[in-house]
Amino acid sequence: PTGQGTRMEFQAETRMLLDIVAKSLYSEKEVFIRELISNSSDALEKVRYFNLTGKSLESPDRALEIHIGTDKVAKTLTVQDTGVGMTREELVDNLGTIARSGSKAFLEELKKGSVDPGTIIGQFGVGFYSTFMIAEKVEVYTRASGSPGYLWTSDGTGTYEVGEAENVQLGTKIVARLKPDSLEFADEDRIKEVIRKYSNFVGNPIFLNGKQVNTIQAVWLMDPKDVSEEMHEEFYRFVGNSYDRPRFTLHYRTDAPVNLRTLLYFPEGKPGLFDLSRDMDVGISLYCRKVLIRHRAENILPKWLRFVKGVVDSEDIPLNLSRELLQDSSQIRKLRTVLTNRVVRFLQDRARKEPDSYREFITNYGIFFKEGILTGQEQMEKEEIARLLQYESSKCPAGERVTLMDYASRMKPGERDIFYLAAPSRHLAESSAYFEAFKARDVEVLFCYEPYDELVLMTLRQFDRKNLTSVEKEMRQEKESVKVEEMEGSLPKSELDALTEWMKDTLGGKVSAVKYTGKLDSHPCVVTVEDMGAARHFVRTQFAGIP
Ligand code: ADP
Ligand code: MG
Repeated sequence: PTGQGTRMEFQAETRMLLDIVAKSLYSEKEVFIRELISNSSDALEKVRYFNLTGKSLESPDRALEIHIGTDKVAKTLTVQDTGVGMTREELVDNLGTIARSGSKAFLEELKKGSVDPGTIIGQFGVGFYSTFMIAEKVEVYTRASGSPGYLWTSDGTGTYEVGEAENVQLGTKIVARLKPDSLEFADEDRIKEVIRKYSNFVGNPIFLNGKQVNTIQAVWLMDPKDVSEEMHEEFYRFVGNSYDRPRFTLHYRTDAPVNLRTLLYFPEGKPGLFDLSRDMDVGISLYCRKVLIRHRAENILPKWLRFVKGVVDSEDIPLNLSRELLQDSSQIRKLRTVLTNRVVRFLQDRARKEPDSYREFITNYGIFFKEGILTGQEQMEKEEIARLLQYESSKCPAGERVTLMDYASRMKPGERDIFYLAAPSRHLAESSAYFEAFKARDVEVLFCYEPYDELVLMTLRQFDRKNLTSVEKEMRQEKESVKVEEMEGSLPKSELDALTEWMKDTLGGKVSAVKYTGKLDSHPCVVTVEDMGAARHFVRTQFAGIP
């Protein structure tokens, strides 16, 4: 390295992030190793990708490797790769600003003020910047093909320096000068343990002080019956950047209608706040014959399946798939349809074969399916997703749940409506005036307790050619005119008419109509709203962002 670099300021957001990271009391500081290795691995994949797509690079045949070195005397940890490296501009753009969605979401979360940064750094993965949790100074030596070498240095406070440097190898070398409380990361055994834990499946060899430590295996290409549960667990943590275990695993291959090698995981843990946000990237990495085409490949699965983690490998994917193509290629659309159908069918199977586990799953992830219905394009698609939903029913004890198929199977010939009632709790549903008439007629009613359930069922409109009908709507539609003479204990018709008129006058513009009904028994009256009325509040507050 030579000379004095130019001092530059971090972008304001980056400064904020760095400040939080550096002061963090996050207990699993070790995740920074995963982040550095994953960046190195990305940089190596890019070399492989450029070679395949015919972009000419300096020494295209170089070994694609990651070398990690520990030095207890110098108190350093070094991570070096033979990847694409960075030009000066890339250094400034990539390490001086925040581009990654994870870091952005992390900051958003913090702005809300309710979370402790220390508990969520690992979950969000703050990338390269996480190195400042353990380093008092970071040096980045880097050289891209056809470009001079550079040295970037920073102590993680407001500024960094960049300058040209001599004798920099192609690729990137990151030297972390450890803080006094982080000297454990200069210990070879400690680092080995961390690599095994998070980065065992990185597709490039990782050497630690000269000895290779990782297993290189494309688990998704293996025969499903040869993959042990432990392997799945480890691989899931690797691809999903997760800490829990997979609840369900879908590992399959097919050659028609598209060539596919797929390994998908459905998490056991609860979704984080971040997963719920529609800004969260899809969790699938797209490969073509073991070459990584894109991490977090948007459009491979619909947004509502963003909680699914894993790998899709297809020989039918063009290697030079650009971002634009990924958005709008018939190949990708086909892949997405095939995958989505498969995922939905797989979950329908789980509901039948592992009902208990599925129930836990849907308690945590049902909200995503509902989003799928709200954002779905076609009726068929929405109805397939709707098969995954479960509700309590007036015909079953509290705590038990039924599906729309269960309901439909109990319907009598000629019945055309699946009735539902939105209420905050079972007790309120059962004692509601709306339910009364249905109970008397022994008609099954689904109880929905979430504020958006009603909106979801309204959007769904039909299931298996039956109407989804709110009990409120049914109450409003007086099919035959009420025969007052036959109503036990009723006021005479003339007085009823007078009462209705009086109520209308008194309530004025607050109501659109006042009617009498023979359907109520123990309740004197009910208030009904027009379609979407009950959902209006919800639309305004919760789903404002959904198109
Ligand atoms: P992310 O990996 O999610 O993009 P990071 O903060 O980990 O976010 O890294 C930021 C960017 O810095 C990367 O996208 C990449 O462009 C660049 N970068 C980091 N490490 C390397 C490396 N070892 N080789 C080449 N580029 C790198
Ligand atoms: Mg990264």
